[in-house]
Amino acid sequence: MTRVNVVTGGASGIGKATAEMLRERGETVYTADIHNADIVADLTTTEGREFYAAEVARLTGGKLDAVYAIAGLATPVPATVGVNYFGMIASVESVRDLLLQSDSPRVVITSSVASYMGHDDVLLDAILSGDEDKALAMAAELAADPARANAIYGTSKHAVTRWIRENAVKPEWAGAGIAINGVGPGVIRTPMTEDMLADPDMLKYLESTIPSPFNGPAAEPEWIASALVFLGSPENMFITGQVLFADGGAEAGIRPELV
Ligand code: NAD
Repeated sequence: MTRVNVVTGGASGIGKATAEMLRERGETVYTADIHNADIVADLTTTEGREFYAAEVARLTGGKLDAVYAIAGLATPVPATVGVNYFGMIASVESVRDLLLQSDSPRVVITSSVASYMGHDDVLLDAILSGDEDKALAMAAELAADPARANAIYGTSKHAVTRWIRENAVKPEWAGAGIAINGVGPGVIRTPMTEDMLADPDMLKYLESTIPSPFNGPAAEPEWIASALVFLGSPENMFITGQVLFADGGAEAGIRPELV
């Protein structure tokens, strides 16, 4: 049977490469994105999330094998929390019933090396409390302060990694045979990073803060797609609750003591 997948963020970068890789394997893919997708939905809004869930149910006919939650923003604005955390979780939780119909259901989420490189404790608590309005208000406070605005992205990715680790092992996920994992990309050549990678000073900064001795300084999106596709495949039989860093060795170099 052909596997049926949903890829959020499928219009660009890592999501686009993942959708293409799955199609090359002969699998069915429905992309979801704010533009140029099978399901055009803004995952920061309740309306967009409801439309996404209804369209996934309609297009798949009620059975889904894997969801790749990849849509994201890296800008220091509240919407980054809206899509990277609340939108990502909604895009997974709202299709759980459809995943239950699969023989090998899988969830794969995009985190980042930024998840461990500094976060704001107050924003993190607000996000993890599940109160989206409070989290967005806190993010707006950070966004207004140039010294703290950059913590928004890292905090959203830290929170999503916490969600993966805390939820993957629960009866409704692991107990129902659904694996949930993340991939933590390093620096990847996509529209998200193209301005930074074109600026020699910024490239130097990235090389010093996210050193990637294996095939660095930056990866092609297909190199991340292959890790995502493995975790989302039936070949992944025993891995759940993990974040696989696909970062040219950056994480091992930065925190070698973490075993
Ligand atoms: P990208 O900008 O090429 O793609 C992101 C996609 O998400 C876009 O198509 C965009 O339209 C979509 N999106 C943004 N907001 C949305 C919304 N509200 N609703 C629906 N879709 C929305 O970026 P990318 O580099 O491919 O990033 C993909 C994921 O990988 C993101 O979660 C990002 O944080 C993560 N990541 C990227 C890098 C990198 O270096 N590029 C590094 C670490 C993590």
